[in-house]
Parts: sequence; C-alpha cells; structure tokens
Amino acid sequence: MKKILITGALGQIGSELVIKMRKIYGMNNVVATDIRMGDDIQLGPFEIVDVTDPAAIYDVAKKHNVDTFIHLAALLSATAEAKPLLAWNINMGGLVNALEVARELNCKFFTPSSIGAFGPSTPKINTPQNTIQRPTTMYGVNKVSGELLCDYYFNKFGVDTRGLRFPGLISYMTPPGGGTTDYSVEIFYEAIKNKAYTSYIDKGTYMDMMYMPDALNAIVDLMEADPTKLINRNAYNVTAMSFEPEQIASEIKQHIPEFKIAYKVDPVRQAIAESWPESIDPSAAKREWGFKATFDLPKMTEDMLSKLAVTC
Ligand code: NAD
Repeated sequence: MKKILITGALGQIGSELVIKMRKIYGMNNVVATDIRMGDDIQLGPFEIVDVTDPAAIYDVAKKHNVDTFIHLAALLSATAEAKPLLAWNINMGGLVNALEVARELNCKFFTPSSIGAFGPSTPKINTPQNTIQRPTTMYGVNKVSGELLCDYYFNKFGVDTRGLRFPGLISYMTPPGGGTTDYSVEIFYEAIKNKAYTSYIDKGTYMDMMYMPDALNAIVDLMEADPTKLINRNAYNVTAMSFEPEQIASEIKQHIPEFKIAYKVDPVRQAIAESWPESIDPSAAKREWGFKATFDLPKMTEDMLSKLAVTC
C-alpha cells in the first residue's frame, strides 16, 4: 500500500484510521474524503467526495494515483432503518461505485461488513464464519449484499477485495454515527459527565464489541496480509468481547462507585439487537491472517474512562 484513499473519513472509524495510516504510510499518502468538511483531518490531503457520484470518486482516485481503496462511507443500522431507501442508495450505490473505481485503477480494496449481516435464523452463540445470513434490517441486507458483491469483484475481475465483520466499535475520540451498539460508547460519556446512564438497549442483551485500537489494527493487518492465505476475504468475523448493559455498568462502577444505570428501551434498536448474534467466532481471521484483540472489557473500561476524564 503506497497511496491510500479513504471514503467516509470523518466518521467514527475513518477519523482514527486516517491518523493511524498517516503515521504508518506517510501524511501525504493517505487521501481522506467525505461528503462534508472536517477540521483536523485536513492537515493532510482531503477531498470532498459523494460516493453516490461515480465520476467524483474516479477523478479523485486518479488525481492522487491511489493503489488502495478503503471504503467506509455508509449509513449505519439505526439510521438505515429510519431511511431504508437512502441507505440502499448510499450503501449499495456507493459500494458498487467504489468497487468499479478499484477495478478500473487496479486498487486493493477494503470495506467493513458488520455483525448486522447476520439475522434471527443465524446461530446466536459463537456464530460461525460461514453460516445462515438472512438479516431482517435494511443495514443487514446491505451488508450481506456487500459481502457478495466484493466476492463477485474478486472472482470475476480479480480485484483484491478484503473485509471484516465488525462488532460494535467503542472509541473515546469520535462519537458513533447512528448504530445499534452506540449505547456502549454513550455510557462512558454519561458516566464521566453525570455518573448515570439510561440505556435504550435492555438488560440481558448481549452483543459483540471491540475497542477502536484493535479494530484499526485489524484493518491494517488484514490489508497487509499475504493474499494467498485469504480464503474467506469478504468478510471475516472479528470480535474482542461480548457483554450486556449490566456488565459494562458494573465495570464502570469499579472506577465510579456512584454510577447508576437505568433503562428506557427503544423498540427499534432493541429489535435490531435481538436479531444479531450474542457472540461470534473469529477463528478464521486468527488462522488466515493472525487476527488478535488486545483489549477486554476491564482493560477497555479503564482506558476509556481515563482518556475521557481528560477530554470531557
Ligand atoms: P459513521 O457514520 O461514523 O461515518 C460514516 C461517514 O460517511 C460520515 O463521516 C459521513 O459523512 C460519510 N458519508 C455519508 N454519506 C456519504 C456519501 N454519500 N458520500 C461520502 N461520504 C458519506 O460510520 P463508521 O462508524 O465510521 O462506519 C464506517 C463503516 O464501518 C460503515 O460501513 C459501517 O457500516 C461499518 N461498521 C461500523 C461499526 C461501528 O460500530 N462504528 C460496526 C460495524 C461496521
């Protein structure tokens, strides 16, 4: 990877991935793009690109002579459920436009899938790499279609497509962008500010999660992996922990004893959460390219609270 283009670069993942990749590959070798303007990110190359405009993506990729395409622009699960047609147009239209540019310019390609690519008929515990995928949300439909489309571009055109099925990602730097697992980030902000949090996800609802530094490492490690070792490509199960709201609350209480959790369940996001696995099996990612996560719930909680205590 010499010159990398990132779409959706101002989002939760993109804003941190740009910083990490600029440290590894050089400030001028990572071109950040988004549909809107950002601040700090523009210290290096930045372009406004709407991923639903194929010519705009092509022009920017060609202008910067990129050899790697990281496609992050998307609408997330809760937003996609509120605006399903828009989600289809951005998530699928944007993806096929990005894949076409990767094909035309011979770029290595990454896009994230999600645990949302599973559905109610998927085995819920230790969900296998290859299993039933019949999601019932627009986001899930987009993610399964996206996995298949990336496989198609690899098999049909030889585009070096790679992907990860991310669980909920937790970060202290950028607020989440409308996903079902956002509660697991909000709870830390509220713990620092108000020592209390009202969860829209019900107690007892387990979902997979990962701390952002592990997610960023996973992207870089997968993109640097030997292509001949990649059997599953689009996309690998990855996870670091599985917990429910009571568990994260009791971990926070270890540091903030007064902290209290209450519940006001949002039926839309609760229904999405219940259609997803409780824990997924990342063994294919470990076997094929050495995936490993370094943060568990206690270690992540300590790090989140100490970082937020400084910034909040
Ligand atoms: P986000 O919502 O924080 O950021 C998405 C970015 O895309 C935003 O900056 C937005 O401005 C941009 N965008 C929206 N429409 C656009 C358009 N038409 N053209 C160009 N840019 C546009 O999302 P994120 O959390 O950074 O997620 C990035 C990817 O990772 C998505 O594919 C998402 O489905 C996937 N993912 C995220 C998580 C998570 O917990 N954050 C979990 C699983 C998968």
